[in-house]
Amino acid sequence: MPESIGISERLQRLFSLVPEGIELVAVSKFHPVEQIREAYDAGQRIFGESRVQELLEKIPLLPADISWHFIGHLQTNKVRPLIGKCALIESVDSGRLLKIIDEESARKGCITRVLLQVHVAAEETKFGFSPDELRDFFRSRGFESLTNTHISGLMAMATNTDDVDMVRGDFAAVASLFREMREIAPDLRGFETLSMGMTGDWPIAVEEGATMIRVGSAIFGPR
Ligand SMILES: *Cc1c(COP(=O)(O)O)cnc(C)c1O
Repeated sequence: MPESIGISERLQRLFSLVPEGIELVAVSKFHPVEQIREAYDAGQRIFGESRVQELLEKIPLLPADISWHFIGHLQTNKVRPLIGKCALIESVDSGRLLKIIDEESARKGCITRVLLQVHVAAEETKFGFSPDELRDFFRSRGFESLTNTHISGLMAMATNTDDVDMVRGDFAAVASLFREMREIAPDLRGFETLSMGMTGDWPIAVEEGATMIRVGSAIFGPR
């Protein structure tokens, strides 16, 4: 790794910067288990992965008390092996995927916690519910038909740009949607996580109301 300081130091620095009460997900995708172990030994317990196969290979090689978060685009045919393996699926980007997660969770007899991914960024390539799709889902009380899935909040990414005002605008829009959904469905208990912010923009996300941030490169170096 080109950086002169190690994973443990970078993580300690981050621990001191991230405000109390904000959950830090260490995004370990494409990094080997030895590096995850280093972060674990420095005290980190939540790790994020974006590919099912990679996650399933890493889980048995690392301590059992790690909370694994799935943060990548999830294809419906990969849902089955993932169920029961992670603490939170952050990247549920369609009603169809949500339904399949619920069915597979029922088959396995477990409850799966998920976040709904919202698309507010300017890039067409990003996944997620549009703000209107999200409103429709909550207004029609789509969550009531789920028996084995718990919707714990929202996840989003800002536009990939150096324009900090634009990034802040994206995060503010998501935070506003989050509050709006809580007003539409005040009875949806446990809907309290707002996951937004990565290495380049997490301080802005926290200022705009994130309760969870997902940081990779600032901990593990470049991928
Ligand atoms: C890779 C990834 C991150 C982490 O990105 P960094 O810029 O390395 O911090 C966060 N969230 C998602 C959804 C990702 O795919």
